[in-house]
Amino acid sequence: MAVLLDNVTYSYNINDTHRVDAVKNLSLHIEEGTFVALVGHNGSGKSTLAKLLNGLLLPTAGTVKIFGNSTLDGEKIFDIRKDVGMVFQNPDNQMIASIVEDDIAFGPENLGIERKEIIRRVEWALDKVGMLEYRKRTPFKMSGGQKQRLAIAGVLAIMPKILVLDESTAMLDPQGRSEVLKVAHELNKQERITVIHITHFMEEALDADRLIVLNDGKIAFDGAPKEVFAHYEELKKIKLAVPWETQLAISLQKAGMDLGEGIVKEEDLVDKLCQLL
Ligand code: ADP
Ligand code: MG
Repeated sequence: MAVLLDNVTYSYNINDTHRVDAVKNLSLHIEEGTFVALVGHNGSGKSTLAKLLNGLLLPTAGTVKIFGNSTLDGEKIFDIRKDVGMVFQNPDNQMIASIVEDDIAFGPENLGIERKEIIRRVEWALDKVGMLEYRKRTPFKMSGGQKQRLAIAGVLAIMPKILVLDESTAMLDPQGRSEVLKVAHELNKQERITVIHITHFMEEALDADRLIVLNDGKIAFDGAPKEVFAHYEELKKIKLAVPWETQLAISLQKAGMDLGEGIVKEEDLVDKLCQLL
């Protein structure tokens, strides 16, 4: 099992008398090779959960295991950090070197990997995110989408088995968002990397294998996106809206149009409407 959380609670201590339970008694399994979208409104516990996965935070109660290794096991934490690659929200905070290839080499250099292998990994990682031709350039003037793809390449050079994107598309324009999402899906399909894509854009969950909705530190929904979207009334109550195409399909269905069950994607809706009209 790629990820196993058993009854995990995480509390931030604010002061001697006050604490915030950000993750509450949460149990979760994620199988290797799954593309998971993790959504939830602000403060629902998404980033806390992400940091629990690579041992940046240790559970207050319960256990977090990555490929069988507990984050509480001091001897395994190095393996866990290698297995779980994290990309964050702000593309500008993730660049270190002024030349792209030096930046990507930084992770494997820190692991003491030999020169030849570093060069191979840098090329491979840049190729995977479609940025190989930029290897000698400086990242600072690039678009947000390009910078985030470089941040992903930097993590890939460490050869993680799990890639966690914590709102990595949040600061990007639509073009940048779709570039990053496409790369994440390709890595999942071609390299079988387990992807946990944290986002507040519900439409970015449409192509996920599994959609997990967090609310108040707990799992509110967990299933295939179309199963979860069927609960659109309850989702609204926890401040989440289903994607517009899903909502439109639901509204047309309600208005008496026989679209059949489970239309969540724009292309499926268009096909169905063309058949009907
Ligand atoms: P999300 O990523 O879904 O917005 P977070 O995991 O960042 O949620 O936050 C979950 C809860 O934990 C929120 O109530 C938040 O205020 C609280 N929290 C997050 N980080 C800290 C921190 N460093 N110290 C205290 N409370 C925190
Ligand atoms: Mg967050």
